[in-house]
Amino acid sequence: MKKIVIASSNPGKLREFQQMLAPLGIEIVPQSRLGIAAADEPHATFVENALAKARHASRLSGMPALADDSGICAAALGGEPGVHSARFAGGPPVGFPGGREDQDRRNNEKLITLLDGQADRRAHYYCVIVLTRHAGDPEPVIAEGRWHGEVIDTPRGTNGFGYDPYFYLPEFGRTAAELPPEEKNAVSHRGRALAQLVAQLRVMGNAA
Ligand code: IMP
Repeated sequence: MKKIVIASSNPGKLREFQQMLAPLGIEIVPQSRLGIAAADEPHATFVENALAKARHASRLSGMPALADDSGICAAALGGEPGVHSARFAGGPPVGFPGGREDQDRRNNEKLITLLDGQADRRAHYYCVIVLTRHAGDPEPVIAEGRWHGEVIDTPRGTNGFGYDPYFYLPEFGRTAAELPPEEKNAVSHRGRALAQLVAQLRVMGNAA
């Protein structure tokens, strides 16, 4: 499998997937390039949303499809925003021209406001990746990753996307947005999930 559709139009995610899959000789085709609109994400769990996105992309493209669903989960907020991370502060649909930066800014503002006065700043990013070889795939490949850190009040760094400038990693003494892309990809929720997915594909390839 050298070419797969990716069920996302988030430029930050697409960039990371490209960086991590290119060395494996895998080309990713964003679904938007094939005229495929984003699937609904109505579910309460990351895995259900990722499966819905991957199936949708496989069905409309006739190709293997990879989808991730991810978000930031704050301990003091009972795991919110979680699956609601992308539209935590509401607003125009994700992908609205010019809207993503504004959406990120408002999402971060809401998170910081809700955590104001909270001593517990622990949070983790979660990512689940689903690969469907075709729309009716009865054995979708599923992998997950977590990345633990803390939410800080003042943004730092310009790399990454979304909540990264506020996501502080004590072991690095930096936020996710201060890490070079290769460093983030090596330890992030998405990087870990993808490494797990690749390991599963290797085992499946050997098992025939
Ligand atoms: P999804 O497209 O429904 O999976 O939305 C994921 C949302 O979670 C993104 O829009 C970001 O707000 C947030 N998120 C997920 N992964 C990351 C990351 O690596 N850095 C920053 N924010 C992230």
